Amino acid sequence: MNNQLKQNQLVAPAIGRFAPSPTGPLHFGTLLAALGSYLLAKCSGGRWLLRIEDLDPPRVIPGAADTMLRLLEQLGFEWDGEIIYQSQRYERYQQVLERLRGDGRVFDCSCTRREILASAPHPGEEGPVYPGTCRNGVCGGRAERAVRLRVADRDIQYRDGVFGEQSQNLEHDVGDFVLHRADGLFAYQLAVVVDDIDTGITQVVRGADLLSSTPRQIYLYQCLDVVSPDYFHLPLAFGDNGKKLSKRNGDIGLVTADNGALMLWRALEFLGQSPPQEFLNSTPAELLSWGRGNFQPVTIPAEDRQIRF
Ligand code: GLU
Repeated sequence: MNNQLKQNQLVAPAIGRFAPSPTGPLHFGTLLAALGSYLLAKCSGGRWLLRIEDLDPPRVIPGAADTMLRLLEQLGFEWDGEIIYQSQRYERYQQVLERLRGDGRVFDCSCTRREILASAPHPGEEGPVYPGTCRNGVCGGRAERAVRLRVADRDIQYRDGVFGEQSQNLEHDVGDFVLHRADGLFAYQLAVVVDDIDTGITQVVRGADLLSSTPRQIYLYQCLDVVSPDYFHLPLAFGDNGKKLSKRNGDIGLVTADNGALMLWRALEFLGQSPPQEFLNSTPAELLSWGRGNFQPVTIPAEDRQIRF
């Protein structure tokens, strides 16, 4: 067995989830996350939940969530339980934010992005590292803009089911990070952790672009005294132009009911599986069924790759 996998990652029935942002139609990149999370949950005999991450209204495309759900159904995906919509959970996020405030874990911040850029010690992977300016109170009379979580100066370590050992020092690499944004919206990092906790998620499977967010999320679990789930980050698919295949990248890799079987076949192959050639002519539901019976998580490659359509 691949030594990157913890014993319990595949033994106990997992509660997994697929959590798309409804910012456009279903693309190959999103299909990989849907398929990977579905098969990993199902091959452990577990449950697969669905959550629509419509947290950021300006980015949401009206109707995109419904279109995506209908297509997933047409392709034969079946989810367990009610679908959760982040846009309906603001009160809950507020409650958790207040709890963290009560525990002295968060602070108000009045810094603008420009100020942070100017004083950041060095740029982090996802923008400048917050230099701690408002940790001990906002500067005299300035309006509070965002709420940040105070991070600790220690390494957050975890073993990813695909990419192996990961480690990050949040203070050094990220800084105190935002939980409630200056524009009044809750940050993705907070919402995703609160939702995963509330729905009992034990297995998070998603694109490797979120590998670097995971230490922040694990730290939030620690602050809330909850055991964090197992993580599997899937390799990213790039188009000919070297860009990640996603909703923002035009029509390349667009998934439809007509090309669904081919896209699923290619997604299985991309995830290191060996779907038989003859299944190219089968229905999406048959391919999913083949996947449920034959999925080998240990062969998912820890390598982003280009794909041609
Ligand atoms: N909503 C995110 C996306 O569509 C995924 C978040 C997650 O799986 O944690 O990329």
